[in-house]
Amino acid sequence: MNKLLFSTLVSACCITLSPLAISANTPFAIAIHGGAGTIEKSRFTPEQEQAYRSKLKEAVETGYKVLEQGGESLDAVTAAINVLENSPYFNAGRGAVYTYDGSHELDASIMDGRDRQAGAVAGVKHIENPINLARLVMERSVHVMLSGQGAEEFAKEQGVPLVENNLFDTDNRYKALLKAKEKLDKAKATSKDYQAAHQALPVNYKIGTVGAVALDKNGNLAAGTSTGGMTAKRFGRIGDAPIIGAGTFAENESCAVSATGHGEYFIRYNVAADICARVKYQSKTIAQAGDEVINSVLKPIGGTGGVIIVDGKGNVSLPFNTSGMYRASKSNSQATYVGIFKGE
Ligand code: ASP
Repeated sequence: MNKLLFSTLVSACCITLSPLAISANTPFAIAIHGGAGTIEKSRFTPEQEQAYRSKLKEAVETGYKVLEQGGESLDAVTAAINVLENSPYFNAGRGAVYTYDGSHELDASIMDGRDRQAGAVAGVKHIENPINLARLVMERSVHVMLSGQGAEEFAKEQGVPLVENNLFDTDNRYKALLKAKEKLDKAKATSKDYQAAHQALPVNYKIGTVGAVALDKNGNLAAGTSTGGMTAKRFGRIGDAPIIGAGTFAENESCAVSATGHGEYFIRYNVAADICARVKYQSKTIAQAGDEVINSVLKPIGGTGGVIIVDGKGNVSLPFNTSGMYRASKSNSQATYVGIFKGE
C-alpha cells in the first residue's frame, strides 16, 4: 500500500473512531468536598444534617450532569464548586469565615490535567465566585496566580462584577470569629505569641473549604479548590487552597486532588502534588497514596484535614484524618455517595 493511501486510511479511520472511542463503558467521575474538621453527629440537628447532605448531593450531581452530557472536567469542577460557593453552609464564597480584623479574604485555584495549565487567586475581597476568577487567570492571563487588588483589577477588565465584602457575612461565622478571638486573646495574654496562640485554637474554628475533582469522558482530569481560609487568620494570610501542588493538583498521567485542612501543613508538605507523585513514580493506587500522605505523613505532625482524589480510570478516594469531612462522589459506575462523618 502506498504511503499516501495508508495515511489517508489512517486519518479516515481515526476521524470516525474518535467519537466511537467514547463508549458506554468510558469512565467518568466526580468527587467534591465541603471541608474537613471536628464534624460530629452530636453537633447537628437532623434537619441541619439533612440540609448539608442535600447541598452536597446537589453539588456533586450538578458536576456529574456536565460530565454525563460529554462536558469537560474543568466545567464540571467549576459548576460543582459554584453550588458550594453560593451556599452559606461552606467556608467559601457566601459562607466564608472572617479574618481577625472582621473581613473576608478568599483564595481559589484550578488546574487542568491535560497540560498542567493552572490559575489561582489569593486574598480577594470582592469576588462572588473566586473559582471562576481563578479559571479566568488560567485562560486569559499569562500568569498562574494573582492576588488582592491586582486580581480584582484583572476581574474588572474581564467584566467580572465586584461585590461588597459584606455579601459574605453570616451570623454563624461571626460567632465563630468572636469565640476564636476570645480564645486567641486569652492565649496571647499568656504566650504573647500570635502564632502559638493561633496554633492553640481548636481546629473546628479554623477550617472548612470546598473543592472538586473530575474525570471526563475524554480522559481529562481537573481539580479546583475555593476557600475563605481560616477563622481569625491574619489579614494577608494565604493558605494552601490557591497554591498549585499544595491544595490543588491535576495531571492526566496520575490523578487530580483537592485538599482541605490546616493549610500551613498542606503547603509545607506539598500535599496534592505529593499524592500524585506517589501514584506516578511509585505506581501506588490513589487509595494507597492518599492514605499515606493524610494518615502517615500529616497526622503524626498534627496536620489535620483530608483530600478528594480521582484517577484516570474513574476511581475515587476520599481520605481524611479528622472526625468528619463533608464529601460526595458519583461516577458512571457508582451511584451518588454522600458522607459527613467517619465510617460512613
Ligand atoms: N485549607 C484551608 C486553608 O488553610 C482551610 C480549610 O481547608 O479548611 O486556608
